[in-house]
Amino acid sequence: MLSRLRPSIGRSTSLSRTARGFATLMLAAAVAVSGSVSAFAQGVPVVRDAEIEALVRDYARPIFKAAGLANDGIDIVLVNDPSFNAFVTGRRLFVNTGALVTAETPNEIIGVIAHEAGHIAGGHQQKLRDQLDRAKTMAIIATLLGAGATTNSKGLAGAGGEMAQRSILAYQRTEEITADRSAITYLNATGQSGMGMLKTFGRFQSALSLAGTQVDPYRISHPMPQERISNLEVLVKQSPFVNVVDPPALQQRHDMMRIKIAAYMQGQAAVARLMRKNPTSLASRYGDAQQTYLYGNPGAALTKTAALIKEQPKNPYFQELRGDILMKANKPKDAADAYAKAVSLDPAHSGLLLVSLGQALMAVGTPDSLKKAVVQLNNGVGRDKENAEAYRFLAQAYGEQGDIPAADLATAEGHYYAGDYKNAKIFAMRAQQKLKRGEPRWVRAQDIINYTPSNKLK
Ligand SMILES: [Zn+2]
Repeated sequence: MLSRLRPSIGRSTSLSRTARGFATLMLAAAVAVSGSVSAFAQGVPVVRDAEIEALVRDYARPIFKAAGLANDGIDIVLVNDPSFNAFVTGRRLFVNTGALVTAETPNEIIGVIAHEAGHIAGGHQQKLRDQLDRAKTMAIIATLLGAGATTNSKGLAGAGGEMAQRSILAYQRTEEITADRSAITYLNATGQSGMGMLKTFGRFQSALSLAGTQVDPYRISHPMPQERISNLEVLVKQSPFVNVVDPPALQQRHDMMRIKIAAYMQGQAAVARLMRKNPTSLASRYGDAQQTYLYGNPGAALTKTAALIKEQPKNPYFQELRGDILMKANKPKDAADAYAKAVSLDPAHSGLLLVSLGQALMAVGTPDSLKKAVVQLNNGVGRDKENAEAYRFLAQAYGEQGDIPAADLATAEGHYYAGDYKNAKIFAMRAQQKLKRGEPRWVRAQDIINYTPSNKLK
């Protein structure tokens, strides 16, 4: 399930596309105002989805390895925005859903990741990247989408001065050439073509004439003069791997990802558009099952999902969809079984599937299932520390068990990871009142109480 789906958030942003583009240039400001954007954290359109995160991580892993970059524990951050953007801070890879749904092949996204890896390996904007890595995901996204700019004039004023003096996440032409060359090196090392990268960048290049009507943040931070594209084209065509296409299984996962984003974010017309090319493909039928779940009746959705499972019995995300449908049909026990199956099949060990399992177990509501829910939810946040929403479920589960200090501490954690330090402290203090001084939970509560968001991460 694509969770935290609040399409209205992404669409209600009143900023013009141009303004949003420039917001990308304010990444430095994100660091500077990370303490003050907390209030917007709840409106931040970060999208969580086990399937898409795992796929993007699979795109990145071989490239990062070829680039000699640490590829363990890379967090994939999906931003619900229709424009094209993707960047890597170091430990996090941010990518807009707009970029994913636009790309027709995995190779197009892999090419962009290779180019980003080239910037990292080249040490471009290293100082800013280090700063971004210390900032919370929510703070970066909030500023990225201009939430900080519209709502907190004080923070913006403070950031404005910083911005003027600081070089921001926008690259020099010479850096672009270096990153392009490095990207080709990584693609060659992994036996992949540069054609996808060329296609993506070529599209930005030709979009120059439309400047003012549509500005993708990515194009602003990476200058794409014609000369650069021409030089890149030579390099791409020299590669012995120029004609290599993505493995069919990877292309299929990509198609399923695109149709999922369309189903959850863009509506039925977008799904129909993607299905038109091949209405009987697995991806099309996946989209159809998801639409039936979202807009139709659970019975029909279950039948369609059962057919998908029959075709790919080891696909964890078909089991996840089955769990989602069963939850909607108010059958939490069956849903818990489906999610448990999804967890057992998931090679990426996503914390999200564990949280879904925990929620289903909570809904079952027996003392035994509640106990299991607490275990699964704790496992979930263990794998996925910044999942503020999961702490809310955990707090609820503890509450239902009558473990009030644990519930308060979980609530404090949720506020803390959402960037709401004021409420985090209130609940941490409340938890401490009922805990023995010095015990681990008391100590953790004290950490939250002591935490001071830094305005100047140097
Ligand atoms: Zn670049």
